[in-house]
Amino acid sequence: MMKHKIATFGSHSALQILKGAKQEGFETICICKRGKEKPYQSFRVADEIILVDSYDDFFEIEQQLIEKNAILIPHASMIAHFGIDQINAIKMPYFGDKKILTVEADRNSQEQWLADSQLTIPQTFDSPEKIDRPCIVKFHGAEGGAGYFLAASKTEFDAKMNNKKNAAYQIQEYILGVPTYIHYFYSPLEDEVELFGFDRRYESNVDGIGRIALKDQEQFHINTSYTVAGNTPLVMRESLLPTIFDMGDAVVRHSKTLTKQGLYGAFCLETVVTSDLKFYVFEISARIVAGTNVSVEGSPYSWLRYDEPMSTGRRIAREIKHAITQNRLAEILG
Ligand code: AMP
Ligand code: AMP
Repeated sequence: MMKHKIATFGSHSALQILKGAKQEGFETICICKRGKEKPYQSFRVADEIILVDSYDDFFEIEQQLIEKNAILIPHASMIAHFGIDQINAIKMPYFGDKKILTVEADRNSQEQWLADSQLTIPQTFDSPEKIDRPCIVKFHGAEGGAGYFLAASKTEFDAKMNNKKNAAYQIQEYILGVPTYIHYFYSPLEDEVELFGFDRRYESNVDGIGRIALKDQEQFHINTSYTVAGNTPLVMRESLLPTIFDMGDAVVRHSKTLTKQGLYGAFCLETVVTSDLKFYVFEISARIVAGTNVSVEGSPYSWLRYDEPMSTGRRIAREIKHAITQNRLAEILG
């Protein structure tokens, strides 16, 4: 049994993170909102569950976690709740580069990162007057695409923006193709980007619209929305894999010019693949994404490499284990 423990918040990808940590010989702690603990008990992934009334109570139990030798694994649920300032206030050992989250959190600096990595990105429009093609309008800090809308002109934009006047938004060219979320893991110890797999999001109502006839769609006056409800697994054409590896390498390489440590651990490129097989990258997530939950037992790709069930959560724990045994823990804590 390892001296360190692995802790995370009970939501998002916690089942996989805690399970993977146990597989690698760590004891696990789940910090959980009261009333949300059932899955962590039922699936037997947590050696200890610390119940809190709100995520904000974390700062009251942080010292306790430090004394338990716990390392915190961040995920979107935690990052969305805390925001950058509170993340920076965390004192306990934390897996990942906190500074890269600042680059990720701002849509403009994130776009710059992707563009400077020579990836193809959708065009953005800095004012509604400039809309000259179908666009998707996204709100900053939107939880899982809720409230996004489509507009192909300023008139349509104004009509749909009507009751959201004060919200900060981004207008992005709508890319027609198949949404593909690419899961990577960059090991700073091995200096290698590994491909972990892919998912498709299952979003409401956009993934339901194709289930009704066009004449019914018109009658229903539907506003397309993108609220994520779940994920499904995916494998990609094998001939696309070299490009996919190159894209992962490129964002990691460029991230080293943005912060001292650069991006490491799990990350995801969120893309749309067009009919000419171009990847348009519309977002990067600099941490584990919940789409990796489709591969709790490992994905087809992690199986090829590891010959044992290797989820992203388990890969994180393995990196931490290697860092501990090689005396290099400081290199993977932000
Ligand atoms: P939750 O803990 O479910 O409230 O989610 C916190 C954040 O993570 C939200 O912003 C969600 O958009 C994102 N998220 C949660 N689950 C998923 C999922 N299965 N796929 C993609 N994003 C997710
Ligand atoms: P996001 O909040 O950026 O992850 O986007 C939520 C969802 O909107 C994605 O899962 C896609 O289905 C869709 N989406 C986002 N950006 C684009 C785009 N530029 N073109 C087409 N679909 C998009």
